Amino acid sequence: MPSGAEQVDWSAVRFLLIDMDGVLFRGSRRLEGADGLLPWLERGGIEYRLLTNNSTASPERNAEMLAAMGIRAPVGSIFTSSLATAMDLTESGTRGPVYVIGEAGLHQALTEAGMEISTAAEGVTAVVAGLDRGVTYDRLRTACLALESGAEFVATNADTSLPVEEGLAPGAGALQAAITATTGIRPRVIGKPQPRMLELAMAAMGAEVEQTAMLGDRLDTDIAAAAALDMTALLVLTGVSTRVDIAGSPAKPTAVFEDLPELMRAWEAALR
Ligand SMILES: [Mg+2]
Repeated sequence: MPSGAEQVDWSAVRFLLIDMDGVLFRGSRRLEGADGLLPWLERGGIEYRLLTNNSTASPERNAEMLAAMGIRAPVGSIFTSSLATAMDLTESGTRGPVYVIGEAGLHQALTEAGMEISTAAEGVTAVVAGLDRGVTYDRLRTACLALESGAEFVATNADTSLPVEEGLAPGAGALQAAITATTGIRPRVIGKPQPRMLELAMAAMGAEVEQTAMLGDRLDTDIAAAAALDMTALLVLTGVSTRVDIAGSPAKPTAVFEDLPELMRAWEAALR
C-alpha cells in the first residue's frame, strides 16, 4: 500500500523531477514500470526532467544508456549536474575563462554554454570541479593556484565515493577535498542534495515549486533536496532507502511507493 498518497495535491503537479538510478534502473537492469513511466507522463501532459549527479556523461550518452535498457527518453529531458552547473554559472554572470577538473560531459556543457575553458590558472574566474578519472597532480595544482588567485570554486556534485564493481572509488567530492585541503576553500555545490540543481531544473521547464514534485529513491539526496524547497517529495523503495530509514531521516517524503507501478496507480486514481 502506498503511504501518504492522499497528502499529495496530484492535480497541482504539472512538472516532475525524476532521479534515475534506483528509480528507472538499478545497475544495468530496468526497474518495473520504468519503460512505461515517461510515455504515461507525456500522455498526462506532465513535463519532466531526468536528474543525475553524474557529471561525466553528456545528455546524449545518458539517453543512449537508457535506450539500451528499453527506456526511451528525449535527450532534452536529461538534466545532468554538468548542465545545471553551466546554467548556474551563466545565471550568476560568470563569464569565464573557467578551469575544469572534469570529463567530457562537463567540458561539453560548459562549452555549449559559451564558456571559455582555460588550460592555465591565470585569469580564471571559476574553477569547476566534477568527477575526473584522468586527473593528475599537475591539474589539481593548477586548480589550487587559480583559487588562490581569487577564482570562485564551483562543484557539479560532492559525492565522495563512486560505486564500482570491486567496491568504492574516489568520487568528485574526494577530488574537491584535495583542493579544499590545500586552499581552505570549499566549493559551492550544485548537485543533490543541494536544492540548487532542482531550482535550475525547474527554471529550465518554467516550473514553479508548487507545481513540481521530486521522485527519487534516496532520503539523503533526492528527498532532502526537495524538502529544502518545500517541494512535494515522492519516494520509491526500489533503490537505496527503505521504509525503516524514513523514521531516522530528517527529511521526510510526502508519499512513499513500493515501485513505479504503485505510484502510477495512486496518481491515476487520485485524478479520476
Ligand atoms: Mg537514485
